Amino acid sequence: MAWTERQRTMLEAMGLRLWAAPGAAAPAADAATAAVVTKPAVPAPALVVARTTTAPTTAPTVAPTPPPTTRPPTAPAPTPALPMEAISVSDDARARRIASLDWDALRSEAEQCRACGLCESRRQVVFGVGHPQARWMVVGEAPGEQEDQQGEPFVGASGQLLDNMLRALGLTRATDGSSPPEQRVYIANTLKCRPPRNRNPEPAEMVQCEPFLMRQIALVQPRLILAMGRFAVQALLRSSEPVGKLRGKVHRYQGVPLVVTYHPAYLLRNLPDKARAWEDLCLAASVAEGGTEHARVR
Ligand code: URA
Repeated sequence: MAWTERQRTMLEAMGLRLWAAPGAAAPAADAATAAVVTKPAVPAPALVVARTTTAPTTAPTVAPTPPPTTRPPTAPAPTPALPMEAISVSDDARARRIASLDWDALRSEAEQCRACGLCESRRQVVFGVGHPQARWMVVGEAPGEQEDQQGEPFVGASGQLLDNMLRALGLTRATDGSSPPEQRVYIANTLKCRPPRNRNPEPAEMVQCEPFLMRQIALVQPRLILAMGRFAVQALLRSSEPVGKLRGKVHRYQGVPLVVTYHPAYLLRNLPDKARAWEDLCLAASVAEGGTEHARVR
């Protein structure tokens, strides 16, 4: 990608470093600069293997952001985010059935879903967008008002920031078939329906919606999952540790490398953390390209 002088100045002002998009040639006039920016200038964060168990192995620390509304504020230690033990046999059968669906059947099942109360207030189900065999899978929280209106994830203000971040890496959510495999992204949310007044997802809603996300990941078979924000982290890693503690490492979801970063809506309110988010994206890019991750994950 050729960066204009204005874009460079803006990214540098935000403390962001440029990542050379896969296969992107630096313009000749920019050769000197390109040599400097083809790798993230930050030292690569240490990589560790994440838990794949359903419960945290250590008592999670208190997150900087408010805890889920369902957790009593005085609770001595956070419980696992999703009460998996509460899943009934019929839920289990439903999850198994969803796990066998193809793309069309999965979308149709989601669009007709009435498994939780969000079906009463949603305008439409926001299933997901992007290439069905993308290398990157981005997982967010839940649709907001714009998404509920348009039926597509991340189309509001945080979506614009997400698109800019993806574009900076040479990635696109476009599905017109013109993008090469290394640029393809699939974007989905933990919840497919908008919580009223954009309140936080509730654990029971996340449990009911989880089979859809699991199946989407299984169908996409991404090389890399980018979990944005604490609800994506709770759903995929079963961790209620703060994003700030989980970022900078390569975790795994069902064997797929997973990088944690801040939610774009949080970044819009906390500009200094944009630089950290950019580091996370650079880490994710190196994993998606099969670089550091294979060498360093035990
Ligand atoms: N925030 C999300 O997590 N997802 C969306 O689709 C929109 C905003």
